[in-house]
Amino acid sequence: MAKYKNPVLACGEHKVTSKFGKRTITVNGKTTTGQHNGIDLVALKNGKSATDHIIAFADGVVKISKYSSSGGEYVQIDHGNGNLTRYLHMKNGSRTVKVGDEVLKGQVLGYMGSTGNSTGAHLHFDINVNGKYVDPAPYLEGTKEFDNTPNIIKQWQLAAIADGFKFPKCGADGKWGSECVSVSKKAVCKRRITHKYPNLTKLVQRMVGVDVDGKFGPATKKAVIAYQKKNGLAQDGSVGPATWKKLLGVK
Ligand SMILES: [Zn+2]
Repeated sequence: MAKYKNPVLACGEHKVTSKFGKRTITVNGKTTTGQHNGIDLVALKNGKSATDHIIAFADGVVKISKYSSSGGEYVQIDHGNGNLTRYLHMKNGSRTVKVGDEVLKGQVLGYMGSTGNSTGAHLHFDINVNGKYVDPAPYLEGTKEFDNTPNIIKQWQLAAIADGFKFPKCGADGKWGSECVSVSKKAVCKRRITHKYPNLTKLVQRMVGVDVDGKFGPATKKAVIAYQKKNGLAQDGSVGPATWKKLLGVK
């Protein structure tokens, strides 16, 4: 019986039919052992196995919404900071979201079914954190949460990429390396007639606490100078390598 209200099923009552981890399956008398990357659930209505609407575990953006031969009709949601959830084996034609849709926690994504590699109506729910599947049980029970601490270096890398810079070896890996040093030397934000780096400027504006409009005007410059003064940096009002490092917390 359900010990907690399930956050991925609309009615909230459920039964776990297969846990995360190693499992042994016997098909036609042949036993195989494999890794189960998620948790299998059926809904419970009046104590009996039932089907139910599937709802989003948390806010996010739909990354995949399609049919695959193994997962069947399924949806994947990107919750940011390397956290992804998937909802497999939905009923044919029940998916309510498409790629790029912003979804809210509790929003209906589809209806439980048995499409793809499945022997009966159930929801296979899985959680991937930074490229690795983890046991969804503690998340469903509410004892574990997504780590939503934003990686500021990663945000900076993404802003720099959006402004036309490249990190060909490492990409936006969230770590400060030689490619970051080289980009920081080129990506100098300062007052200009033409605003070359709107995304990086927005990041600066958020960090120094002025209106975020992506234009490096006098108010931004003034706030940058105040920041530089406070942090013992050269007070030139432009954001170059030394100021970037301080803003990003790089030692
Ligand atoms: Zn499963």
